[in-house]
Amino acid sequence: MTVPAAQAPARFNDQLTPGFLPASTFAHMESTAVGMVDLEDPERASVMSTAHSRNRDALLLIRLHGDPLGVVHVSDERVVGRGDDLVSLIHQQLGERVSAHCRRFGCQVSDPGCRGNLAPHVPGSVAVIISTVGRERTLDRCLRSLAPLAHERLEIIVVDNRPAASTRQLISSWSTRDERIRYVSEPRPGLAIARNRGVAETDADIVAFTDDDVVVDDGWLRWLNAPFADPEVTVVAGLVMPLELETVAQKRFEQYAGFGKGFDHRCYDLRLHRADDRLLYPYWGGMFGAGNSMAFRRAELVASGGFDPSLGAGSIAQSGEDIDAMSWAILRGGRLVYEPRSLCWHEHRRDEDALRDQLFSYGVGFTAVLTKAITHDRRFAGAIVRSIPVAWRLRHRAALQANSSAVLPAELRRIERSGMLRGPLLYAKSLLAIRRVGRAR
Ligand SMILES: [Zn+2]
Repeated sequence: MTVPAAQAPARFNDQLTPGFLPASTFAHMESTAVGMVDLEDPERASVMSTAHSRNRDALLLIRLHGDPLGVVHVSDERVVGRGDDLVSLIHQQLGERVSAHCRRFGCQVSDPGCRGNLAPHVPGSVAVIISTVGRERTLDRCLRSLAPLAHERLEIIVVDNRPAASTRQLISSWSTRDERIRYVSEPRPGLAIARNRGVAETDADIVAFTDDDVVVDDGWLRWLNAPFADPEVTVVAGLVMPLELETVAQKRFEQYAGFGKGFDHRCYDLRLHRADDRLLYPYWGGMFGAGNSMAFRRAELVASGGFDPSLGAGSIAQSGEDIDAMSWAILRGGRLVYEPRSLCWHEHRRDEDALRDQLFSYGVGFTAVLTKAITHDRRFAGAIVRSIPVAWRLRHRAALQANSSAVLPAELRRIERSGMLRGPLLYAKSLLAIRRVGRAR
């Protein structure tokens, strides 16, 4: 999940959305094409979303030697096909970042052997765990993006959290072609339960998580795994971009929340890399990454008890198990790395009812996670309680600023707020329900 936007007020300005995209893209709600280009070969832009004539403009993720530098908003989609125009636009908007990349890796734009593109080799086994709930079209697409990935000891575990014969058939046809892919049925509902089930099915050193509505980049796994070369690192999160911005609901979601955490590599822990300027660090886990692209050292995740089944999609508290797990990994003394070179693309909900449900559940999950923090760690309880009014004010200001070019409908703000108000109670109910099930067993 992502959390409401208050954790990093500095990044809210007229230019960028909470997911670090140009806010100008959301001045209208018509379809915007989404694509990607590497400055090394600007003639070869790839379009992620279905190209069609209704696109009014385009958003392009700009990379250099695989390294994502930022996103440009191209007001005329035709510029994407014109290499020279595109290159001058990129230099105009991201020139600083191009120079910074070249300084950092000692490369030139035309240099194909840039070391910035070489992920360190990390020996060990990896399991990719995907939880699915009857979305075969997108699950199939997700597997098509995962199947070409190479890693010496890789398995791909699909946990069917609404077990259906059609999903089982789909995976069995994949398994006959690619024996690394296997099916696990987990009828107890809940994303946290499904993810824990996936973890229990493997003895891989690293467990990576994505969702069935995601398409991963060629380098996704390589870069998600690379930071584990540092033995202190226990969790890694990657960059999640929108796969398409075709409907009003998809644009509203990206404008208001989004999953992206920017284009800079970051470390977080309790020693050298404290983000003390962030409110409630490290509890406000939404700054770290999103559950649709994260990886943990399996032994450490298991020792921490895994994902909390009283949080997350499918539980009464509806979301938050991912940011909760990331916060606790840091609290247990581990280090979290945000690595934007690990890139994937998420298909946001296309219709407005789904968007409303999503904003409500993020609101609930957000305060549910804070409620858990208050009740589990007395040291932070006072700070959390004192911070709530500040957070609320920041949240309000951030929402106003982030949406200055196109105001988020009051109805959606109301829905999210009502979720936030109900979070503590729903968390308590969820906790009781999980304990009752536990006792019944
Ligand atoms: Zn380079």
